[in-house]
Amino acid sequence: MKNILLLWGVLCLSISCQQTNKSSVDPTQKQTTLDTIQKKPNAPFGIVIHGGAGKIIKENLSDSLEKVYHEKLSEAISKGNDILKNGGSAVEAVKQSINILEDSPLFNSGKGAVLTHEEQPELDASIMDGKTLNAGGVSGVSTVKNPINLAYEVMENSEHVFLSGKGAEAFAKTRKLTLVDPSYFITKKQLQNVRRIKQKENNKQASFYNPDLNGSKFGTVGCVALDKNGNLAAGTSTGGMTNKKWGRIGDSPIIGAGTYANNATCAVSGTGWGEYYIRGVVAYDISALMEYKGLSIQEAVKKVIYKKQPQLGGEGGIIAIDHLGNIAMEFNTPGMFRASYLNDELDIKMYQKE
Ligand code: ASP
Repeated sequence: MKNILLLWGVLCLSISCQQTNKSSVDPTQKQTTLDTIQKKPNAPFGIVIHGGAGKIIKENLSDSLEKVYHEKLSEAISKGNDILKNGGSAVEAVKQSINILEDSPLFNSGKGAVLTHEEQPELDASIMDGKTLNAGGVSGVSTVKNPINLAYEVMENSEHVFLSGKGAEAFAKTRKLTLVDPSYFITKKQLQNVRRIKQKENNKQASFYNPDLNGSKFGTVGCVALDKNGNLAAGTSTGGMTNKKWGRIGDSPIIGAGTYANNATCAVSGTGWGEYYIRGVVAYDISALMEYKGLSIQEAVKKVIYKKQPQLGGEGGIIAIDHLGNIAMEFNTPGMFRASYLNDELDIKMYQKE
């Protein structure tokens, strides 16, 4: 009897301890990415980036320009790979790889982003953590040097998921992010591009939905990663589409459209004609095809990019990675700047047949 009473006492004590622990966790508190960082030296990890899809063909790129793109893609993905190799988080790898692409005028994100009808930059970005399903997005910012960092701050240090325009920029100030004058983002090349398209528009030769955009280079940047703890993350950063008007927002800052990550399935970043990616809820659709239909990452990405998007009229590309490090890099345009770093092997490609 004494033993039974003792056992009963121990049981009650352990249940009450568990309850105390539970009640000390604030249910409104978001888990942060930092919670995910512990080192598992031999676990698989990997990273994939894109620098936009579109009419990227050998004839349009001189050998020296090809080399410059190659070097920048290599620098960006190597940064992320080093972070992962040293046990860093997928979110950190995504953020830092994208920072390098945002700082380069070669791509349509950060410096060198495409310009609006008013010849101004209006930048969009988003990031998602596949472990916690936390996410952050920003749209229409023109003073934050690295929009992906602002999306990260929204995810980690705000109660919200999606901020826009002036409010997003005010929040950036509170997070002490690097701010710049909008002119920092404007390059001669993008000024010429938007003026050329506006000219055609004046001559009634073109509109936003026109052959000048359809089939041209898009150039958004994105990154997906798997870290040694089995956590996935995805991020995308863009200037949107040339000559956009009326505060147009594309798919890139929208969670589920241009960016999605879930440890149960995959991490996805897209690039292409945003209106169609929003309507197709592309990034989430790929995850859902894996979750509910049991498709592999390759099958899911191919179904969306070669069947569902063309049926709607959309074009572009997708990069994705799953929790085992299987990847997909698919596009229905002539080319896509892309790179993967898996098992210490770096692979960089631009064109269709490589
Ligand atoms: N998806 C982007 C947008 O529509 C453009 C791109 O990928 O280059 O804003």
